[in-house]
Amino acid sequence: MSPDRSNLSADSWVVTAGRPHGPGEPLNTPPMFVSNLAHGGDRGYARNDSTPTWEALETVVGGLEGGSATAFASGMAAVAAVFDLVPVGGTVVLPDDLYQGSASLAARGEAAGRWNIQTVALTDTDEWHRAARHADLLWLESPSNPLVTVADIPAIAAAERRPGAMLAVDNTFATPLAQRPLEHGADVVVHAATKFIGGHSDLLGGITVTADPSLHDRLRQVRQLLGATPGTMEAWLATRGIRTLGVRLERATANAAAIANWLEADTRIATVRYPGLQSHPTHQVAARTLDGFGSIIAFDLAGQEAADAACERIELITHATSLGGVDSCMERRGRYEGQSHLPPGLIRLAVGIEDPDDLIADLNQAFG
Ligand SMILES: *Cc1c(COP(=O)(O)O)cnc(C)c1O
Repeated sequence: MSPDRSNLSADSWVVTAGRPHGPGEPLNTPPMFVSNLAHGGDRGYARNDSTPTWEALETVVGGLEGGSATAFASGMAAVAAVFDLVPVGGTVVLPDDLYQGSASLAARGEAAGRWNIQTVALTDTDEWHRAARHADLLWLESPSNPLVTVADIPAIAAAERRPGAMLAVDNTFATPLAQRPLEHGADVVVHAATKFIGGHSDLLGGITVTADPSLHDRLRQVRQLLGATPGTMEAWLATRGIRTLGVRLERATANAAAIANWLEADTRIATVRYPGLQSHPTHQVAARTLDGFGSIIAFDLAGQEAADAACERIELITHATSLGGVDSCMERRGRYEGQSHLPPGLIRLAVGIEDPDDLIADLNQAFG
């Protein structure tokens, strides 16, 4: 059932997979707007039986990650589907830096008595090993949001896990071109397709991938029964978007490296966190485990006021949340609740594919 890309590199697969390919067929799987189908065929009702448009996206992402994919309505719908599989009274282990939506979902479940939360430092591999003996869900996010800390996923995944314990990795920041956690032994990978997979800041989507057929069936059941199905237009746009992921990521990563080096040399900046910098605390792990350091940078503009002023003055870069689009965005992350572990002046810069000199010039004028 897993799409097989054994003969193709990821860069070719991402362009060619999920296309009809037959004589007289369109090159792209068209958006099929459908909920209901006449009896007698393979499909009856879309929420139960999926659609060819969703499946094109699932084929592409599943093949990249090395498993079977399920497309969801949003990244959070995919995250929530995995959390839904935790038994009542179970233990969820979270890293000390993660997407605040996932943190809030977990906290809400704990407040409702649904599960217990344990927090482990993303970099403390030994502690993850200990947690694997009693956890029901080990939730990794690497590189993390917003500190771009990189976990040693191969080492953590090698830990002996309690039977039934799930190791899940939110792979949104890395993308499947830079990191494939299932190859290291993770049970399930989650993406916000909203970000790099869509790539144009114009859709919400999520996706899970697993190589475990029974886990795949259970995730399908969650999508079906909780109704977290992707939109037709969104799934089609995400498939269109992912075709260019290779070149987008290459350009955005090169831009980010140039900007991170420039920031590090600038005396107005207190600290810069980018996994590609020697100074980054997890640079070595990143160099060993990732194919590319990505396009997200966090930097500390020494205080909330200076950071807010820079976000106001920025022109080419948009003052906005989110990441993974062709357009650069930045914001002060401490503005959100539950982010008290961050320096108040910490800005997350999601680098796009504009000209790097223009981006640097914009940052330079914004720092005043
Ligand atoms: C954005 C994001 C999500 C949630 O995705 P939505 O599509 O906004 O629901 C989950 N994890 C990470 C790391 C993200 O950046």
